[in-house]
Amino acid sequence: MNALAATNRNFQLAARILGLDSKLHKSLLIPFREIKVECTVPRDDGSFVSYIGFRIQHDNARGPMKGGIRYHPEVDPDEVNALAQLMTWKTAVANLPYGGAKGGIGCNPRELTVSELERVTRVFTQKIHDLIGIHRDVPAPDMGTNSQTMAWILDEYSKFHGYSPAVVTGKPIELGGSLGREAATGLGVVFATEFLLDEYGMSIANMKFAIQGFGNVGSWAASFIHQKGGKVVAVSDITGAVKNPNGIDIPALLKHKEKAYSLKDFEGGDAMDLNDVLVHECDVLIPCALGGVLNKYILCTSYKQSLPFINSFLFPFKNQKENAADVKAKFIIEAANHPTDPEADEILSRKGVIILPDIYANSGGVTVSYFEWVQNIQGFMWEEEKVNYELKRYMKRAFNDIKAMCHTHNCNLRMGAFALGVNKVARATVLRGWEA
Ligand code: GLU
Repeated sequence: MNALAATNRNFQLAARILGLDSKLHKSLLIPFREIKVECTVPRDDGSFVSYIGFRIQHDNARGPMKGGIRYHPEVDPDEVNALAQLMTWKTAVANLPYGGAKGGIGCNPRELTVSELERVTRVFTQKIHDLIGIHRDVPAPDMGTNSQTMAWILDEYSKFHGYSPAVVTGKPIELGGSLGREAATGLGVVFATEFLLDEYGMSIANMKFAIQGFGNVGSWAASFIHQKGGKVVAVSDITGAVKNPNGIDIPALLKHKEKAYSLKDFEGGDAMDLNDVLVHECDVLIPCALGGVLNKYILCTSYKQSLPFINSFLFPFKNQKENAADVKAKFIIEAANHPTDPEADEILSRKGVIILPDIYANSGGVTVSYFEWVQNIQGFMWEEEKVNYELKRYMKRAFNDIKAMCHTHNCNLRMGAFALGVNKVARATVLRGWEA
């Protein structure tokens, strides 16, 4: 099931739980606006390259639309659509005065130089500048983009509209970025994990964690877990994977990655197959990378992937196996957006695995984005302690609100979160008078 079908399905289940009016139901599902633009730029060698850029604005009933822009070769309109919709429910769950949007360019940022990335970003901004804005749609970083990308968008946007730092969040501190924004998604993931474990009388200290993805979210989450005495027993990113049953020294792994640009050859653990991290022996699994990684079919290694026929010949049964069925963790914290496909969701639920859903678990990033936007509008910068204190407060309130929904509707955490988000957006839509 693709990301959009999976997201629509979760929305539909929540709408049913809430007994949503069918007209409203339809209106909430269809995006407010879908933008698709051509971005042609010169490469450093003088040749030209063309990409397609998307910005899908899903809903603005509760406020300006909000969401990241990702640069990834597999960006496609359906996935951006799903991610935009998830942002609408996420901002509502976190109780931020925002709607939802998402953008993306189907390029591989690893294959572009810094000046090429700057040109692509500026051309994209020129094409969408009149459809974004401080009170309209506020982009932020996502996979393959960062604070530098936001600085270029801010600069290009400001050429048309005057200096406007609040038009993007996740900016460099020097341009009005917020203290704590860089670490916010990872820190929010760890707060969410603590709240969940606490329900079961457990805490992070001495529990075993497996983390898939060691970029912005995964590396911060791993660092905070390590600081709190948790044992990170397996970590992977696209460059490699490492395991250590006694717990990986995360600061040492960070230093290694900084030097080697890879997780390979780290001496504080043993190398392992990238895909095995998801099914590694642990208490808590935290997927922090791409969507759809927990699926019904086993993930193949690149060797097997390149030889599908030989693979099916050599591993006729293994190919049919589900990686969800092999998950050992008792808890899954969805730091990535949409890491679990619905079939895997069912398999995992049947196994009794507790899943903390993406629209809550990774909402720390957009929550501190909101604090950044507020600081820009106020023209007053907060201390980092205040940012982190408010983040914890927002995450705690959302957790309690989800729990209350689960209680009222006798449903799991994913449905509790969806019902919470969808209900708030539906209420705002009706109050604004959508039928006129
Ligand atoms: N890209 C992040 C997300 O998926 C952050 C979005 C934002 O800060 O607007 O939640």
